[in-house]
Amino acid sequence: MKITFLGTGTSQGIPIIGSKHPVCLSTNPKDKRLRVSILVAWDDYRYVVDCGPDFRYQMLRADVDRIDGILFTHEHADHVMGFDDIRPFYFRQGDIPIYGHPRVIESLKTRFDYVFATENKYPGAPTVSINEISNTPFHLHNLEVIPVNGDHGGLQVFGFRFGDFAYLTDMKMVGDEEIEKIKNVPFLVVNALRIEPHRSHFNLEEALAFIEKVNPKKAFLTHISHLLGFHDEVEKKLPEHVSLAYDTLEITI
Ligand SMILES: [Zn+2]
Repeated sequence: MKITFLGTGTSQGIPIIGSKHPVCLSTNPKDKRLRVSILVAWDDYRYVVDCGPDFRYQMLRADVDRIDGILFTHEHADHVMGFDDIRPFYFRQGDIPIYGHPRVIESLKTRFDYVFATENKYPGAPTVSINEISNTPFHLHNLEVIPVNGDHGGLQVFGFRFGDFAYLTDMKMVGDEEIEKIKNVPFLVVNALRIEPHRSHFNLEEALAFIEKVNPKKAFLTHISHLLGFHDEVEKKLPEHVSLAYDTLEITI
């Protein structure tokens, strides 16, 4: 299985428009972070987790010419607003499978009503096949996916375990019974927003404590704000088995 980090930034991305913060002005490519998303590829299958506002460029940058579906963690704008740009995939492949909590699907129907229209549908609009998911495992072809339920400042959010790899973003709290599902997973990705606490995201300290509970062989941090600091400086301070993810990073599981 190959994981590609398509974006590792928080909701505004880094740099923030107009910001003079030193991290936003950094020339290190690792300090430039698009909105958070990953590509999960195994055998001939390719799935994207979330499709935020940078989706189009992320697909071009990673040279993705086909996707088998999109899994949604939750409906916040930085995770869904690239939805219209599934059109090139739809034109070539037909209906694009999407997976999400029923609440997330409802939100997509409100924001992108034309995609779901059944009458007088605009011919250029894409069509999707809807797969509502609950907190029970489901299959993508030959792979079992285990949803991991979390709390994002009062909003339910799903992380996903794909075999030896688990991806959790936008978590503020994960219950012990959910942690059991990913205990000792070899590779873990989890969100770490900044140093200071935040109402709906793990800060660095909370993310590291979470990693300790899960006990992966290797962990990567994502959904990073400019307030976490420069990539190279933060990286030096992390435990040996924890790294900051950065855009375009690929890991083979
Ligand atoms: Zn969010």
